[in-house]
Parts: sequence; C-alpha cells; structure tokens
Amino acid sequence: MFSYTTIKDYKEKLLNGQTTCVEAVSFYVALIKQNAHLNAFLEVYEDEALQRAAFLDSQRKAGVPMGKMHGVITGLKDVICYKGHKLSASSKILEGFISIYNATATQKLLDEGAIIIGRQNCDEFAMGSSNENSAFGNVLNARDNSRVPGGSSGGSAVSVQAALCMISLGSDTGGSVRQPADFCGIVGLKPTYGRISRYGLIAYASSFDQIGIFGNNIEDVALTLEVIAGPDEFDSTALTSPVPQYSAIINSNPSKKYRVAYFKETLEHPGLDPEIAQATRKFIQTLINEGHTVEQVDFELLEYVVPAYYVLTTAEASSNLSRYDGIKYGYAAKDKVVDLTDFYKKTRSQGFGKEVKRRILLGTFVLSAGYYDAYFTKAQQVRTMLVNRTNTIFSQYDAIISPTVPSPAFKLGEKSNDPIEMFLADIYTVFANLAGIPGISVPLFKTHYGMNFGIQVMSSKGNEEMMLQIAESFVQLS
Ligand code: GLN
Repeated sequence: MFSYTTIKDYKEKLLNGQTTCVEAVSFYVALIKQNAHLNAFLEVYEDEALQRAAFLDSQRKAGVPMGKMHGVITGLKDVICYKGHKLSASSKILEGFISIYNATATQKLLDEGAIIIGRQNCDEFAMGSSNENSAFGNVLNARDNSRVPGGSSGGSAVSVQAALCMISLGSDTGGSVRQPADFCGIVGLKPTYGRISRYGLIAYASSFDQIGIFGNNIEDVALTLEVIAGPDEFDSTALTSPVPQYSAIINSNPSKKYRVAYFKETLEHPGLDPEIAQATRKFIQTLINEGHTVEQVDFELLEYVVPAYYVLTTAEASSNLSRYDGIKYGYAAKDKVVDLTDFYKKTRSQGFGKEVKRRILLGTFVLSAGYYDAYFTKAQQVRTMLVNRTNTIFSQYDAIISPTVPSPAFKLGEKSNDPIEMFLADIYTVFANLAGIPGISVPLFKTHYGMNFGIQVMSSKGNEEMMLQIAESFVQLS
C-alpha cells in the first residue's frame, strides 16, 4: 500500500524499488475520485499523469538521474498556466481558454520531473477568503465538510490536506496561500515579492501577487521553493539574487536563538478568537523558555493594513481585468448587441461573478480623477509607511510572528453576505504582501472542536532561509 511522508522519503522508495511513480499516480487518482465531493479539482489529468509516470519510471530504471521533483504529484491552482490545458481562474469569463505556454514555475517543476495531476478550484480571479466565489462551486474543508477551506487557493490547500496530491502551487496576493493552509492544517508559504517569477500567473494585483507553495511539511515546501524560485527574463520584477538550497539548510542550525517580534495590536485585536490568542501567548512563553528573545512591538498601523490593501489591490485589479473583453479569447455574450460598448458590457456583466464585479467597481472608483488622491494616493502613502516601519523592525529582529488568521475555518455561508467581515479575515496576512516580505503559516494547534490553526512567521525581504529555519524549529518545539 502506497504511503507518503516527504518528497525525500518518496524518492528513496522510488530508488530502492519499494514503489513506482505509476503506483503513486494511481493512489492519488483513486483518492481524488473518492473525495470528489470536496470539489478541490476542476480537472484531473489522469491519463496524462499515468503516461508521464510510466515514462519517469522507465527513465529511472534506465539509470537516468532523478530530477529534484522526480515523480512528485503536484496540483496547480487554476490561475497558473500549464501549456495545452484549460485555464479559467474559476471564472466563466475564460470559458474555452487553453494555455498557450507554461508558467515559469510550471516549466521549472516539469524540468525537474514533477507530475502535474490537475487543475484546482479557487475563488474567481483569486479574490476571496473562503473559496465561495468560484464559478464552479464551493470547496469543502476535508476536516469538517460544513466549514470553508479558506481562500482563495482553497482547492490547492484541501488537495494537500486530504492527500489528493503531494504538493500544490497557489497564489498569494493578500494571504491566499497562508490563510487556507492555516484553515486546513498544512504548511503554506508566500515568498518575497519577486522570488518566484509571475510569468504565467493570471494577474490579480501585480505589485502584490506571488506564487506560493502548499505542502505537508517545511522540507517539501523548501525543496519546491528552491526549484521554482529565481530570475526570469519574462518577469522584470523577478529577483536576480541566487537561490539558496533551502531544503538543505532548514535544519542546519537547530540550536540557534532568534530575536522575534510580535505586534501588541495583533494579540489585542477584538476580532481575535480567544482560543487562538491563548495558544499564541502560550507559544510565545515556550519560545522565551527555550532561550529565544520574544518582544512586543507597537504597531499602530495595523488598523490601516486592510483598507490600504483593498484600495490598492482593487485599483490594480480593475486595470488587470480590463483585458477580459470577449474579443480575443474567453466568454463572449451571445445576445444581440447594438455596438462594441454594448458587447463589452454584456460580456463582462455575464462573465464575471459578483465579487469580481464589486472589486472592479471599487478599483475604478479609487482611481477616478475625483477620488484618486483621497484613496489611491493615501493608500500608497500607507504602504510606504509600512515598508519603512517594517525595515526598522527587521533591523532589530529576525522575524515577526502572529496568528495566521484571527479565527479558525468558519462555516460555509457564515460570512459570504458581509464583505467587510470577510475582508477582516485577512488582517494578519495582507501586511506581508504590502511590505513585499515572505511569510509562512505553520500548523501547530487545534481548537477544542478539532480545527487546525497555526503561527505565521515573517522575515525580512529575501530572507526565506532564516524564515524556514525558524519555522522548522517551531515545528520541532510543538
Ligand atoms: N482574501 C484576499 C482577497 O480577497 C487575498 C486574496 C489572495 O491572496 N489572492 O483579496
């Protein structure tokens, strides 16, 4: 019977003949079918994955060296291009669209031998925190089917949670990898802005978007990061600094003592679930007992992060989503139209869902001549203040920690009629995207009714190495 712990262990089993890639694909495909009710996958590439697995098995048996991701069963959020395969951003507006190239991240995974198992459900255009905004239905949390998996990369998180694949790629503009990872009890990483190329990632808010990684453990996530990170001639915002061998260093300094900050306003926030507050405070005490320095820092800007995030991301989204006009590709209104404007209006009104329309309207409003300075410029100023404040904090500390989300996974429908309430779920995660720093959610705790929640670790820009080491040391402590 196939069993999985880490990529490293799986590759050892492949090498010594205890399993094969074909066995692994068959195992995961069977589980995907058994768990179809979770609605995590929009499409499963069963035949293709089996063929690729057979090819990899034959290569290995012929003595061809294994790539770093050899046979790793990988899922892709439906916003990441995979050449020759459908891509819809879980929206009707991309109906019939097929990727004509691979995202750089997809290409790098394939070059190292990964097997792409399918396309995963998400909130439409990655806008949401519960996966309730998908044009193709909710995704269910595998631990409690009456609860949301988080969003927007809900399908990718649940796929790892329910063992429907080994790792998945999602996207994180304001928390969409870390928040669902927290709700599903797995590891979710958003790298520094620019660490992973955005080429082939459908744009939501380009100055925030990053591809992120879901895994069962930090080692798998670190390995995947080292494979897909790096400079890219197709993305001028991709960082050019060399990519460390993250997977080799996560355990390299286990007894190191760190300087850690946490924000007073985070733990005193009225919306924070008392059980999460208590577990976090207790964990801080454990860190202190272990010899780490953990200090409270004032962060009076906390109340501005969600408004600044929603002003800036909707502004960028309103511009990015203007390309979906029904002319070149995707859904086109079939009704009788009087002129081109009428065609655009009908296509976009019918093709986009409610949340996406809300954000396009909001973004267009904050960019309009009369309100630009009051909203957009103001939010840019807040962002600059945050960046400056963040730099000051990281001149004194190695990491900032917080709960990942103020509440555990909530019930389906509980927040879907209250956008402000839903937006507040992002309060601890949007900060990293505004500041461009990396963040990782590590599953450490459970509520008394069995839902997971974790701790978020953030480090300074480009310092994923230390962030991963700290996160790993937290896992060892728990
Ligand atoms: N929940 C946030 C939003 O709706 C985050 C989305 C994301 O990271 N893609 O904007």
